Amino acid sequence: MKTDEIRETFLRFFEERGHTRLPSDSLVPANDPTLLFTGAGMNQFKDEFQGKGRARAGLQRACTSQKCFRADDLDKVGLTSAHHTFFEMLGNFSFGDYFKREAIEWAWELLVDGYGFDPEELAVSVYEHDEESLAIWRDGVGVAEARIYRFGEHDNYWPADAPSTAPAGTLCGPCTEIFRDYGPQVGCGRPECDPSCECDRYVEVWNLVLQQFRKQADGTLEPLPTQNIDTGAGLERLAAVLQGVATDFETDIFAPIVAQVVGMTGRQPEPGTRDRVRVCRIADHIRAAVLCIGDGVLPGNKRREYVVRRILRRAVRDGHELGLDEPFLFKLVPTVVETMKGGYPELVERRENFARIVKAEEEGFLSTLSRGSAILAERIEQVQGRGAKTLGGEAAAELWDTYGFPFEMTDEICQEHGLSVERAAFDAAMEQRQAGSKGGEQFGQVFDTSALARVKDVAEPTTFTGYEHDEGEATVLAIVAGDELVDEAPEGAEVTLALDRTPFYGESGGQVGDHGLLETGDARVEVTDTRRADDYVHHHGRVVRGTVRRGDVVRAAIDADRRAAIRRNHTATHLLHWALRKVLGEHVEQAGSLVAPDRFRFDFTHFAPLSRQELDRVEELVNERVLENAAVAVELTTPEAAKAQGAMALFGEKYGDEVRMVSVGDFSRELCGGTHAERTGDIGLFKIVSETGIAAGVRRIEAVTGRGAYQRVTDQEAQLARLAEVLKTPRERVVERAEELVAEAKQLARDLEKAKRRSFAGAGGGGPFEEKARVGDTPVIAGVLEGAGAKDLRIACDQLRARHASAAIVLGAAAGGKSASLLCALSKDLVARGLHAGDVVRNAARLIGGGGGGRPDLAQAGGKQPDGLAAAVDAAVAELAARLSDTQA
Ligand SMILES: [Zn+2]
Ligand SMILES: [Zn+2]
Repeated sequence: MKTDEIRETFLRFFEERGHTRLPSDSLVPANDPTLLFTGAGMNQFKDEFQGKGRARAGLQRACTSQKCFRADDLDKVGLTSAHHTFFEMLGNFSFGDYFKREAIEWAWELLVDGYGFDPEELAVSVYEHDEESLAIWRDGVGVAEARIYRFGEHDNYWPADAPSTAPAGTLCGPCTEIFRDYGPQVGCGRPECDPSCECDRYVEVWNLVLQQFRKQADGTLEPLPTQNIDTGAGLERLAAVLQGVATDFETDIFAPIVAQVVGMTGRQPEPGTRDRVRVCRIADHIRAAVLCIGDGVLPGNKRREYVVRRILRRAVRDGHELGLDEPFLFKLVPTVVETMKGGYPELVERRENFARIVKAEEEGFLSTLSRGSAILAERIEQVQGRGAKTLGGEAAAELWDTYGFPFEMTDEICQEHGLSVERAAFDAAMEQRQAGSKGGEQFGQVFDTSALARVKDVAEPTTFTGYEHDEGEATVLAIVAGDELVDEAPEGAEVTLALDRTPFYGESGGQVGDHGLLETGDARVEVTDTRRADDYVHHHGRVVRGTVRRGDVVRAAIDADRRAAIRRNHTATHLLHWALRKVLGEHVEQAGSLVAPDRFRFDFTHFAPLSRQELDRVEELVNERVLENAAVAVELTTPEAAKAQGAMALFGEKYGDEVRMVSVGDFSRELCGGTHAERTGDIGLFKIVSETGIAAGVRRIEAVTGRGAYQRVTDQEAQLARLAEVLKTPRERVVERAEELVAEAKQLARDLEKAKRRSFAGAGGGGPFEEKARVGDTPVIAGVLEGAGAKDLRIACDQLRARHASAAIVLGAAAGGKSASLLCALSKDLVARGLHAGDVVRNAARLIGGGGGGRPDLAQAGGKQPDGLAAAVDAAVAELAARLSDTQA
């Protein structure tokens, strides 16, 4: 059975049994900043399991095939038959509806009747004290008691060991697992082998979690009023079992990727070899990277982005080790999309985009991989030479900073050589490196939700009235102050308020939150930030007058001018998006945005910097639309209807059953929850401020509209006026005048260079140089150039060498009283006599507090003590004279 069929069979089976088939949640967990990636099917149902918050009304049974990513198994990928970074988890869920009997009976029915397992080849395990499940398996399903295993809370409880170790409040329960038993001839062969054994005999195919209790503060387990079912079956593993192959990498979903990698390397590595591990790892990592990029996580240096970069770079290195020195991963992208499109058809459209992003990352890394590998090999040798066992953190930081080696990769390579890397020292070194490069604003920091999370327990979700209204009456439902839920907050307190309804827009979708005032008869709260958490709007600010109480009716009013500026910028992002696709092509996808009152930025996929002409054209197109004064219309519709009308959805965003479609004129349609101008003319003027690259294949445009644009134009006018003043020329001639001045400056520099050469050469042979000594026929010529640099020394030296076929030359130069340089040149015959310019310079340079060296015939040194220059030149002359005498024939 093909993987696509296995997935479909599962979902259809549960659909037929009253489950709502829901799409996979994004790999990026919505509203859960604590989680790096979605790692299980139940993540999207947290509220349903708790029966509160955003729980979908009426949803009691659901089934999904969930995209999952687990970074913690990264080290095992390729080494085992069934560990992956990205995988799919099939699951059926009950929220206070059916319980153990149905969950167990249906699982069995699907495995035996749906997938055709022979009941004789299955075994099950139950929690040792869960008599109920045991009875269902034995008496209801009819599994022989010998095939039912009882295990303790470590193996058969979720979370593992919950009865003894889980904190109070944890929802938990026993689980029961189903295994494919390959029989005693497979695996360890011990008579006592059972499903808890680590050998290959038993392969887990399905885990049913029977959520039944809440852990109490006194350690006891209190039965839940309603019980939940949460099951998970790894799709890749199920496919391997059903397709009768030894590892997941041989299933129909992996085999084509593996085959392509093998084809590219031209070698078929034996199972169990290091090369085979590399091939499997490449297949796993490119698939995971494509799915992550599909959900909007592009390779980068922060959190999730760093994980994607890490796996891509590890795959590049694996390829490199297999002899692939050109970008190759991007060629696997179409194969990945082909194998995954059954479950995720939306990947097909973005295939080229994925490939370009992957290729850009590969090229960037390949260009430094060899050099970095050589440096690392050198460092490892040094460490081993010292007999030490750890590589310094500074070396690892340099490899990351300069050659793009993720720490984990350096660590991995070191491990291969029996070394470890100092993690703490690496972190410290990185922090120091970054301290210099900080300074930009920090948007999107993770908001502390600890006390705020409990607002959900006491308040209903907030109704947002701000699309139509700038102000209105509302009731205070919750007050958070000092990380506590409180009933009132006095003057001076920093507070977060939840209201039943609000015109304040909570930061989301790139649009910043509103500012404004909340007022009762005697109290006033200044709101300086508004955030959204699920369906709740949190107003952050300070009580500036009176006392605000729970239950108070307040007048909520946003700063309408500020909001108007935000509206103009938000509508402008839509126009910009449209114009970029028009000018650059349909591959342009929005990758992120920030809409603030004073400016906005828009991140999008594209693979080269924009030319001046492209930027001009984009700006022109947007301004044409502004002048057209087209109407902005908002419509609530279904995702399908919006898609049919060509509405653009955001990269990696998940939408509900009802979506808000924002149309500008008849040319731009986007799904968007933000606030907008009424007509494009409100934007006034649109000006691009900058265009830069922010990641492989991702560009960023910053722009201004309205007052911001007006201010920018005014500032530039003023600059131009000032420039004309400085250049003492009319404004119309500023460019011409600047060009003239640059040409003059160049000519002057050339003249100066010539003059220096003449003066060093000393017209008529004098100059600052003199013959300080003569040994036999060989002169020792020396001199000091004041106010000259190292480059001038070379020029003077060349001229002296041209005039003396056989000579020893020593030159010194001092620049600005801060630094000095020294040069020694020897003609070939002197080198043949065993003299070495490098030795002479090194010795003499000590007198100017420096060091240096060079070839036998030419060497240079620098130092920070010009006072010692004359002495240094004399010392060099003396040494040369002595060596010349010693070696005289
Ligand atoms: Zn065993
Ligand atoms: Zn928008």
